[in-house]
Amino acid sequence: MVTGKCDRCESKAAIELLYGPHKFCKDHFTHFFEKRVKRTCRTNGLVGKGEKLLVAVSGGKDSCVALYLMHKIFGKSNELEALLIDEEIEGYRDAALNFAEENCKAWGIPFTRISFKDEFGFTMVDVMKKTGAKKRIGGTCSFCGVLRRKIMNQYAKKLGANKLVTGHNLDDETQSTLMNVCEADIQRLVRLGPITRMKKGKGFVPRIKPLWDSPEIEIIAFAHYKGVKHYEEQCCPFKWQAKRNTYRSVLNHLESQFPGTMYSILSFLKQAKPKLAGKSAKVKLNACKECGEPTSGKECAACKLIKKITDAK
Ligand code: SF4
Ligand SMILES: [Zn+2]
Ligand SMILES: [Zn+2]
Repeated sequence: MVTGKCDRCESKAAIELLYGPHKFCKDHFTHFFEKRVKRTCRTNGLVGKGEKLLVAVSGGKDSCVALYLMHKIFGKSNELEALLIDEEIEGYRDAALNFAEENCKAWGIPFTRISFKDEFGFTMVDVMKKTGAKKRIGGTCSFCGVLRRKIMNQYAKKLGANKLVTGHNLDDETQSTLMNVCEADIQRLVRLGPITRMKKGKGFVPRIKPLWDSPEIEIIAFAHYKGVKHYEEQCCPFKWQAKRNTYRSVLNHLESQFPGTMYSILSFLKQAKPKLAGKSAKVKLNACKECGEPTSGKECAACKLIKKITDAK
């Protein structure tokens, strides 16, 4: 329950951001939120003039808000298209898909759906059954993520997109930072940030995260105040397996005890990245012998997984 007035006007406060601390009415909160996203895009050079943007949508709050803001901020100066990857997880993605498609229709954004079945000949449910991924924490999600990234990169190249936009938020980014610290994975740690800068001609379309410093709880509030329709349930039946669930609850606890912890972790990442980048081993990229996608070995992770799945009895 928020009490008192907005920091910027005489209206009753609708939301309190403890890390500030700030108290805002609805209008001043949405203004504050949009301004932060614009600043993130500008200071990190996320979007160039006239660049073609492919927004990865899932129908959930983060990607729907990212699409809404990309359309609002860059809709006049940049070409936008949305891509939904359907893992065909029954009762989950099919419900979320409608929200993504309806938003695209309402905002006049071309929408494409690519399914795992069409692309690879199997669904995530098949992956579970064939590989026994459920026995390992995070098993299904690691399969899902690798395959999804392959489709995204391939489609972005086919479309001639300059940037691939994802809805990753502050909570995601700080969870990944902590995970990489706990696993002593400097190479992955230095790849985090609002933009993945890959050398031109290496076959990667740069991925940008305009919401990388927007807390999840504020994205929910923004979607609510602005009427951005999205799928509210978090019911991917495999979600409980994600390793990051543990990191999420640890970080949520820390944030509630010490407001601003997530921003401190982001600040740590910003300071550490340039210091560590030169020290982590440089990865030489080759074209995958199966599909031509960039990889550090001879065969990309997705092609190895596809073989594993199709060979499994
Ligand atoms: S929770 Fe895991 S399995 Fe479910 S959609 Fe997300 S990455 Fe895929
Ligand atoms: Zn106000
Ligand atoms: Zn490959």
